[in-house]
Amino acid sequence: MQYQKDSTWIRCPICYGKTRTKVYADTVLLNFPLYCPKCKKETKVNVVQLNMTLSEEPDA
Ligand SMILES: [Zn+2]
Repeated sequence: MQYQKDSTWIRCPICYGKTRTKVYADTVLLNFPLYCPKCKKETKVNVVQLNMTLSEEPDA
C-alpha cells in the first residue's frame, strides 16, 4: 500500500475557502475550471506541484 500523503484541497483564489477539488503533489492541472461552492463561481486555474496560479484568459 502506498500513501498519497502530499495532497491538498485547492483553495478558492477569491474567498480562500476550501473547494471540493483535491490535488496530489504529482497532479498537474492546466486551465482547470475550479468551482467554489461558496462563491458559486468557476475560476480557471493552473496547479503544478501543489502551487496554484490563476489562468488568465480573455472573455471571448
Ligand atoms: Zn470562493
